[in-house]
This record gives sequence, structure tokens and C-alpha cells, in this order.
Amino acid sequence: MKMTLPFRPVYLLGVILASLLCSFVSAQQSSSTLVNDPAMADESQGENWLAFGRTYSEQRFSPLTQINQSNVGGLELDWYVDLPNSRSLVSTPLVVDGIMYFISSMNIVRAVDAASGEELWRYDPQVAQYASRRMRAGWDNSRGIGIWEDKVFVATWDGRLIGIDRNDGRELWSVQTIDPELAMYITGAPKIFKGKVLIGNGGTENGPNRGYITAYDADTGEYAWRFWIVPGNPADGFEDAAMEMAAETWTGEWWRHGGGGNAWHGFTYDAELDQLYIGTGNGSPWNRKIRSPGGGDNLFLSSIVALDPDTGEYLWHYQTAPGDTWDYTSTMDIVLADLTIEGEQVKALMHAPKNGFFYVINRENGELISAENYTEVTWASEVDLETGRPIENPGVRYELEPVDIAPTPIGGHSWHAMSYNPGTGLVYIPTIHWQNRFTDADVDLENFQAEGWRIELGVGYEFGASTRDDGATGTLQAWDPVRQQQIWEIPAEGAWDAGTLTTASNLVFQGKANGHLRAFNALTGEQLWDENLGLGISAPPITYSVNGRQYLAILVGWGGAMSALGGQEMADYGWAYGDHTRRLLAFSLDGTRTVPVSAPPRVPTPLATSDFIVDGATAESGELDYESICSFCHGGAAVAAGMAPDLRASGVILSADTFEQVVRGGALASRGMPPFADFSDAELNQMRHYIRQQAEIALAAGR
Ligand code: CA
Repeated sequence: MKMTLPFRPVYLLGVILASLLCSFVSAQQSSSTLVNDPAMADESQGENWLAFGRTYSEQRFSPLTQINQSNVGGLELDWYVDLPNSRSLVSTPLVVDGIMYFISSMNIVRAVDAASGEELWRYDPQVAQYASRRMRAGWDNSRGIGIWEDKVFVATWDGRLIGIDRNDGRELWSVQTIDPELAMYITGAPKIFKGKVLIGNGGTENGPNRGYITAYDADTGEYAWRFWIVPGNPADGFEDAAMEMAAETWTGEWWRHGGGGNAWHGFTYDAELDQLYIGTGNGSPWNRKIRSPGGGDNLFLSSIVALDPDTGEYLWHYQTAPGDTWDYTSTMDIVLADLTIEGEQVKALMHAPKNGFFYVINRENGELISAENYTEVTWASEVDLETGRPIENPGVRYELEPVDIAPTPIGGHSWHAMSYNPGTGLVYIPTIHWQNRFTDADVDLENFQAEGWRIELGVGYEFGASTRDDGATGTLQAWDPVRQQQIWEIPAEGAWDAGTLTTASNLVFQGKANGHLRAFNALTGEQLWDENLGLGISAPPITYSVNGRQYLAILVGWGGAMSALGGQEMADYGWAYGDHTRRLLAFSLDGTRTVPVSAPPRVPTPLATSDFIVDGATAESGELDYESICSFCHGGAAVAAGMAPDLRASGVILSADTFEQVVRGGALASRGMPPFADFSDAELNQMRHYIRQQAEIALAAGR
């Protein structure tokens, strides 16, 4: 008998090992991606969307190329899911091995088949039941969830961080991350790295709050570490050396005002350098004259702070708005890339905070490499590269008289994601061009003391005109971070367009406030595809693939601050509360469906009635309560921009009983309307008169 193959034990072992390895590898790729540090750092794997910015770099860049410049015009709806009980949808879905996970209103999390939309499980954290009074702070928005191994993590409006089983949506653990007495809340996505879950909070504007972030063990929910963003009362002792250092930059009795700095959005984990970057918020209250009357930079407000991911220890910081007094948060996304600058490769981070400058920072040491304004900036003439500090223009701290400032507290760029394409070398930024007027002439600076649960800023502000002659208040622009200059720019039909996605086929996708989802040539800005989704878009798109088919998916549900506080300009989009079905939609080149028809845009008209006689003095008494509490969702001067009902058009206001049941009794808590148990009958009456007064003013003006 002749043997044609060398039949040796070593060979056999090799064959067995190879076949084992093959089945292991194919299982890894097709059915069981282990969601861990290497997976979330892997830029080359395009099937999944594992983390908020897809990978740890936060680039929102996909290597998928099936959808390209020549065929993107043929994208059609592949599947969709109606989300009838949702309102604001601003989040980024995640995809692992053909399953999509996403969060919607009231922090309800769903898993659906990413190729059909079929629901696999749903987890409801019962926010209305847990939040109660806390629903007065923040909004019914969440920007996303996190995944680590076999768990999904959700952070709730009311401050809980919850670990749930990725297979069936079962709750595994839950921790409360915020003192129940504090008017703070969560809208951000948890950040997962090295077996830890990190969460921040918001609340800078809701009273004397002191910002912090906390890390927990992903398996158990056990507390790991906390980093305080601003120092507390020195008499209580400092938590760490960083707080002692920060306290040197504050004056007066800052701790009486909390200090703020709440980090509610931009967290980036750098797997290469094993560092964590935190974008921090503005001061509480906004006006530095109150918060820190002797001046000072007020660390670590409006900064990027680098921390040790294992311990939360301070490593370095860069402050974008020293001594902030304009709500120039630096909580916007922090994007990592290797850039070639003057012939040298730099481990860079890129950041476009509210203040209007685009920063490129060496992330190995926190040194500023360059900073140029990406939108109109009037508060500072430039950033001095020697000192790393902005050169402020005279009068911008409203120290002399009311002053017009650009950008506004909404920012030149807000939390709407920017994306970076390593192929084109460009960053795609949803940009806002706007100014506003600040004055504290009417504020008692010496005796100011904010209460919790109210919006009290210590300074008055009013939106002004666009900073553009042509009136455009928003644009999409491509920005070269190396040359620090704009490459192309497309005017938006208004402000508040959503975040961007870019792909290796040199495409950029963006949803618009006017309801259109569009694709652009990443090199030129030429529009290549446009689909009307029938409702203002506030969430960024993602792309992924299942069984060889590339999908583009997006949540559609008008949301975020401007859908509450945007006034008539945002109301004019016509996304009246309750009119338009919220949806998750997925497009592909093989899609065969058409986008379902939506209700047409509608701008609410104030109710004309002779059944309610407004008393001017009573209305005037209700103004303060309305504007510092209700306006946060229902809009200034009762002009609602879509997040909540326009009360001028509401019959509820006409009936003292119904109004009482809704406002004091919490009858609509399950829909996100907070209960206000402590309003007196007189206060409720005053608010009704104020709202009706605004209705009559609008009616008289022919609106
Ligand atoms: Ca703020």
C-alpha cells in the first residue's frame, strides 16, 4: 500500500488545529463578535457598529464600500419600524452580528434584527416611575447606549446606570449615579472600555450643581472611581490633588453655586495611549462675576481633561474657554487621528466645541498644535499658540454694556456628531452661524443664588440674527484639520441639522432639520442622494452590513435643545408635537419599499377663545415660573418648537381642573410631563394667565 500523503502525527495535529481555528475564526466573524477593547479599537471591521462613534477613535468613519458615489443615488428603503410612543430621537444605534440595539424616548431600549427590523426584545426602565421630580431637569433624550461583551448599558434620564443582558434584555444590575436631591440628569451615552462603564451627567443650568463623572464595573455595576470636574468647598477637604490645583483658579465662595462643569457628552477612550479624554461643561451659573467674582480660569470648566482610565487620576488638561461666562461647553465630541503636520506624524485629537474654534491637540501631552475658527467668532480674535489661550475682545464679558456675541450658547457646533475620513483627511462638521446678546444689567450679582430645579443663569441672553449676510444659520462644512481651513461648505435651510457619517467610498451622510436625509461627495460636497423622511432629523446615521448587504440606518424624531427652546424659527419647520410618527429606517441598494407618508408639516396656531379672560397683573406674576421652569420644554414665551405641546394652542390651559391634573397631579408623566406637586393654586392660575396672554399676543400679531 502506497501512501501519497506523509501520514505523520504532527501533520494530523496540524490539520485538527487548523480546522478548529477555522471554525473559531468563522464563529468570531459571523455569529459571535466579542465586544471588547480589541474589537472596539479595530477600524478595519465594517460589519458592526460597536460603539457610539463606531470605534474608540470616534471618527464615525466606515470602511464599507458597497454603497459608493456611483450607486448611492439608488438607495431605497429596505425596512422600517414605527416608534409610536417616542418623541425626541437623537441616538446612535449599535450593531453587533446582525442585531441592532437602540434607545428611544423614556429610555426604552430595543433589540431588532438588523436585516428586517423585527423586534427581538425590549427593555423599559420605567423612567416616569423612578424619575418623578427629576423629570423637571433635562429632557427626554438619550444619545445612545453602550455594549461590552454580553451586556448592553443604558443610562436613564433619572440618573440610573443599568446593565442588561444582550441576549434577552433582562436587567442584571442597576446603580443610581446621582444624589436624588440634585437637579441633575443624564442624556449621554455610557462609555465602555477595559471592563468599565463611564457615565457623566447634565444639570449645569438647573441650579447649584457640581459636575463629575463616575466609572463602574461592567460586570457587576460596582463603583470603580469618580472624577470631580470642579473643586468643592476647601473647608471640606479636596478629593484629590487635581481639585487642590483647580481650586487655585477660583475666587470667592464658588462652592455656593456648585461651579458646574457637568460632562454630559464627549468621552473618548484612547486604546493606543491608554488614556481617557473628558470634554467638560461650562460654569454654574453662566456668569463668572457671580461664580468667581475675583476672576480666574475656573478649572476644569470648558476643558478636555485626560485621565487614567483605571483610576480616574488626572493626567493633563487643555482649557478651551478659560473663565467661561458664555456657556461655551467643551462637551462636544473628541475625535482621535494620526495627522501628518509639517512632515511629522502627530497623535492628535480634534475638537470643535461651542466656542467656534477647531482645536488640534497633541494627545500625548495635551499641547495645543493649532486652533482656527470654523464659524464666525466675535468673543476672541484668535488663540495664541504660544500660551494656548484665547485673546478675548474687549467688552465680551458684558462688563461694560450689553454685548452681541458669536457663537451663541447653542454653539458653533453642538453635540451633533462630526465625522473624520482618514481617506480625504477631512472633518465633516454640522455648523451653526448665529449670535446672541448678553446682559446682566438686571441681575443682582451680589445676592444671586440659584435654587435647584429652575433655569437660573445669572445673565440674560437673547438670540439675534445670523452671522451670515445671506441669513443662513446652519451649514455642513468639510474642514481640513492639518491646514486648519474650510474645503467646502453647503448652506442648510436653517440651523440644527444632525450629525454626520463618512465612508471609505468618500461619501458623507447627514439628516437635516427639514426632514431630508442626504448623501454628499466627501471631496467636493456635491449632493448625490436626497430622501424626504417626513420629520425633522436630529440623530446621526450609521452604516453596517449583514450577509453581504450594506445598510444605512437612522432614527427620525425631532429633538434636542432647539426642538424645545428654538422659538419661532424652529417652530416654523412644522414638526408640531404629536403629529408625526417617529421611526427607525434602514436603506440599502436592494431596498424595495417607499418611505411611508407622514403628516404634512404644521405650525400650531394659538387657540382663539372668549372663554378665558386674561388678567394682565396675574399673567405678569406667572412669567417667572413659566420662563424658568416650563419654557425648558414648551419654549420661551410659550412658542413650542416641537419637543412638547404648544400651550398657546392647548385646551388644557382653559380648564383649571385639567391643568391641575396635568401639572400638579402628573397625569401625563408617562409621556414625559413632570409632576410639579409643589405649585400652589395661585401659581397654577398665574401660569395659565401668562400662557393665555402669550396666545393673545400672538393672535393679535396675526400668527
Ligand atoms: Ca451648558
